[in-house]
Amino acid sequence: MISIRNLHKSFGDLEVLKGIDLEIERGKVIVMIGPSGSGKTTFLRCLNLLEIPSEGVIQIDNKMMDFSNKKLDKKSIIAFRSLTGMVFQNYNLFPHKTALENVMEGPVTVQKIPKQKAREKAEELLAKVGLADKVDFYPHQLSGGQQQRVGIARAMGIEPEVMLFDEPTSALDPELVGDVLKVMKNLANEGMTMVVVTHEMRFAQEVADEVLFFDQGTIVERGTPEAIFTNPREERTKRFLDRLS
Ligand code: ATP
Repeated sequence: MISIRNLHKSFGDLEVLKGIDLEIERGKVIVMIGPSGSGKTTFLRCLNLLEIPSEGVIQIDNKMMDFSNKKLDKKSIIAFRSLTGMVFQNYNLFPHKTALENVMEGPVTVQKIPKQKAREKAEELLAKVGLADKVDFYPHQLSGGQQQRVGIARAMGIEPEVMLFDEPTSALDPELVGDVLKVMKNLANEGMTMVVVTHEMRFAQEVADEVLFFDQGTIVERGTPEAIFTNPREERTKRFLDRLS
């Protein structure tokens, strides 16, 4: 279970997250939609502690971070971060490491897992995302879709409690999107807890347990995909969805 309470984030005078409250049950898939600049990426980065929230509390299972306590040490940040696996829009792979080395990096350096064991695990994960034959390829030798699947395997490598996806398909050529979505669907079917920022409305409809409409740093509306897409209650949600169609 993930519990987020009163989460705020400001950059200087700009308040980007204005007090988010959200509970996510284990195994649920949450899709976040909303206009550009509304704070979706910042929200994911706060969950992952790539950004440190200005205020609020995040609890993942029995581990809690309270951001009103300003003395967070690096060690506890790294430990908390490893509860989440982040998949970035632009993959963020290490360019000078092979697919296998990219996936091994977290388990070896963060979790101190012996190399041989990490290698076996990484091979398994790459096979799972359909890249068994690409383990020794470097990112530049892979298509965008393949790189993103390495990105997913890498995030899974640390065995996170929750996977965070930040527009994972928006940098991809349309014909490569399907393979990445399929991998994400498989993860969801296996019971992975996922928070996904995406413009792929069909994916949201098919896979999400809940859709959140995010605007100006707050959750404006949330509901089942059916409720949000066919019968939104809020004017702002309606206008956003009308613009998409
Ligand atoms: P998009 O769909 O375009 O990715 P988004 O909803 O993910 O948008 P964010 O990327 O979270 O929105 O950005 C929200 C606001 O925060 C924007 O106004 C952005 O300029 C600002 N912002 C984000 N990161 C920083 C930063 N590191 N420093 C200053 N401002 C930032």
